[in-house]
Amino acid sequence: MEFLLDLHPDAYPLEGFRRRQLLDWVFGQGVGTFEAMTNLPAALRTELAEKYHLNPFKLIETVRSTDGSVKYLFTLQDGRQMEAVYMPYLDRKTICVSTMVGCPAKCAFCATGAMGFGRNLTPGEIVAQVLAVAGGEGIAPREIRNLVFMGMGEAMLNYDHTMLAARILLHPQALGMSKRRVTLSTVGIAKGIRRLAAEDDLGIKLAISLHAPDEETRRRIIPTGHVNSIEEIMAAAHDYQAVTGRRITMEYTMLRGVNDHAWQAELLAELLRGLVSHVNLIPMNPWAGSGFESSTEEQIQTFYDILHARGVDVSVRRSRGRDAGAACGQLALKRPQAVTGAA
Ligand code: SF4
Repeated sequence: MEFLLDLHPDAYPLEGFRRRQLLDWVFGQGVGTFEAMTNLPAALRTELAEKYHLNPFKLIETVRSTDGSVKYLFTLQDGRQMEAVYMPYLDRKTICVSTMVGCPAKCAFCATGAMGFGRNLTPGEIVAQVLAVAGGEGIAPREIRNLVFMGMGEAMLNYDHTMLAARILLHPQALGMSKRRVTLSTVGIAKGIRRLAAEDDLGIKLAISLHAPDEETRRRIIPTGHVNSIEEIMAAAHDYQAVTGRRITMEYTMLRGVNDHAWQAELLAELLRGLVSHVNLIPMNPWAGSGFESSTEEQIQTFYDILHARGVDVSVRRSRGRDAGAACGQLALKRPQAVTGAA
């Protein structure tokens, strides 16, 4: 049986009016069974239910933060588990979705990286997180207007599935998200950054998790062979900007005594010269056993001041959902065996 959400909406099994009805049930109403699609003929509903399913996972639990963020934990059909995070703001509803179970990038400060890698999620498993979270919050899926590919996983290492998921999310008859409100975050996969530039019709935003301006510190923080050198990443970023003209966000997790020295702020400013970018300084979100601490408020301010004085567009980003284990770098399952599957 095929998972309907793995298909691009243009490849749905119905034509014209009927296809629009089906899309509206799935993405407009968030309906999880064909049986509930009452304006489709009964025989058609039966036929669809024999060939396709609509639910790739079960919701296991939700953890609510005092700031309103909610972490959703799902079990996939093969027994593996993964998470998504819902972040309501006054003016917008945002979701952070996973693209993998676990992550092979192994960033040393990240709880997901410590889990290891389970598998890539399918396009439908990525998109279904939006539908499931909307259902859990009692809102229509199309009310979620902002999406970041910043949950579990390195999206550029699951490139094709992530791109198809993005195309489904942006499709006007599916979720109809604005490309300006969808951001893909990468630890710095130069080949993927160039591919994204080449697929510029998609038009989604790019964030690069740089985390250090010098090779030695970066290798300590991101010790995987998947990662290109800083020079290669910056070359890809410049190429991306030359093609798209879009500003790039640089994510920088502030780690006490590791990447928060004044000389590193100066080096970062130098590195970003000539690139239209915005730097997000992110105080590290704590988790047991990480071996890292967040930089102090004073150190973050000093780092900010140095960048600002050198003309860098910079802000300090306060993560949401810290107390629910839902903030950046905190996503990790409570049952580690699920990374490699329950079977
Ligand atoms: S920070 Fe992102 S890329 Fe790095 S290990 Fe965590 S999930 Fe993977």
